[in-house]
Amino acid sequence: MNFVKLVKNPKPYFQEAIRKSTNLWHTYFNTGELVHCEICEWDGARFYNGKCPKCNSLPRTRLVPFSLRHFGLVKKNLTILHIAPNRNEYNYVKNNFEHIKQYDRLNIRPVPHINLVQDITNTNLINGSYDLVIVWHVLEHIVEDRKAAAEIYRILKPGGSLLMSVPIYPIGSPKTYEDSSIKYENYEKIHGHDDHCRSCGLDYYKRFEEVGFKTKTLNNYTLKDLDKFGLSKNHVVWCFNS
Ligand SMILES: [Zn+2]
Repeated sequence: MNFVKLVKNPKPYFQEAIRKSTNLWHTYFNTGELVHCEICEWDGARFYNGKCPKCNSLPRTRLVPFSLRHFGLVKKNLTILHIAPNRNEYNYVKNNFEHIKQYDRLNIRPVPHINLVQDITNTNLINGSYDLVIVWHVLEHIVEDRKAAAEIYRILKPGGSLLMSVPIYPIGSPKTYEDSSIKYENYEKIHGHDDHCRSCGLDYYKRFEEVGFKTKTLNNYTLKDLDKFGLSKNHVVWCFNS
């Protein structure tokens, strides 16, 4: 442990220590097979405040493996582009697709586990590069999301798939709301998050149809799946085909 850093900035270390010991307690005592985390393969009696005690995944992240399976997207020899994945999403895709031909992870910033530092609204990737693009709770942060949709359509192979989810705010809202005159400092008050530039509604998929995609929707989960995999009934996933 770096004690100089610890003395200068103790909070993150203590928070991390508390998180690790709490998780240890839960993985030790919270045993059983009632719930299953598909991200880290942990089985237990329950998720803790929605989080997996072993890998800390959230319901929305555990929805990635569930929807990949639901839409039949887990195949061999794919070329995959994952836009701004978190660590758990990245580990899942890396470890659960057989013989990935190419797995690119793109982010506008050079964060860990990223190999392409590019802007998804304007990349230098060639036409028809990918079989599958995954973009999970990212587009609500991107002002020019229609440009991003067109760019994804361009770099997907004909017949390729885009798996996409955004938070619906407020929960169940039928209509997307955005106003370019809203200032950044007011995003949290209006869109419920300090970096969300719009409130996505259940009609958000239409922006992808405007650029040529065809849509399939996942939003009707069984109670058994919600409980078993620790999902949220409020989440919606769209699978688009080019
Ligand atoms: Zn887990």
